[in-house]
Amino acid sequence: MIRSEILKEIAPILRDQLVVCNIGIPSQELHAIDDQPTNFYMLGTMGLASSIGLGLALSQPKPVISIDGDGSVLTNLGTLPTIANNPANNFILLIVDNGSYGSTGDQPTYAGRKTSLSKVAEACGCERVIECSAENTGTVLQEALDSGQMTIIVCKCESGNAKMPVITMDPVTIRDRFMSAIEA
Ligand SMILES: [Mg+2]
Repeated sequence: MIRSEILKEIAPILRDQLVVCNIGIPSQELHAIDDQPTNFYMLGTMGLASSIGLGLALSQPKPVISIDGDGSVLTNLGTLPTIANNPANNFILLIVDNGSYGSTGDQPTYAGRKTSLSKVAEACGCERVIECSAENTGTVLQEALDSGQMTIIVCKCESGNAKMPVITMDPVTIRDRFMSAIEA
C-alpha cells in the first residue's frame, strides 16, 4: 500500500477529528480524498506538523491527529523529545513511513535504511509507540483514539504518490475555517 491508499482507508476515522497534515503531496492527497474544515494543511512548514499538532492538543481538549512523514520527522527530530516530555493524551502522531521523501521525487530517507523511527521515539521517552503495517493502520488508529493515551504510530508502507491536484485554497482560508472548526 502507498500513502494515498492508507489515507483513503482512514478517511472515515479522520473526518470527525482535528487533523494537522504534513506539507506537500500528503496534504494534496488528503484534500482530494476528503477535504474537511477540521483538516489543517501544511503549505510551507516542512517538519512542523507534529509540533503544531502537539501544541494544539496541549491547548484544547479535542483529539488531534498529526499526519506526518518519515522525511518530515527526520527534518525535525527535536519534535520527538518535545512530545515525550510534554505529553498530551489527546494527541496522536501518525508517521506514514514510506522510506522516502515523497514530495520531492521519492529520494530514499534513512528511515528506509538503518534508522527505526519507532525506536527513536521510544528512546526519546515516548511511552506508547506502535509500529504497524499499512494494512493495519485504520485499526491501530482507532484503538489509539479509543485508548485516550498519547500514541505515536509508525506505519510502514510503500513509496509512491497519487496524482492529485494542488490545493488552491488560500492559506488564510485554511487557517480560518480550521480555527472555526476547533471552536465549534
Ligand atoms: Mg516519506
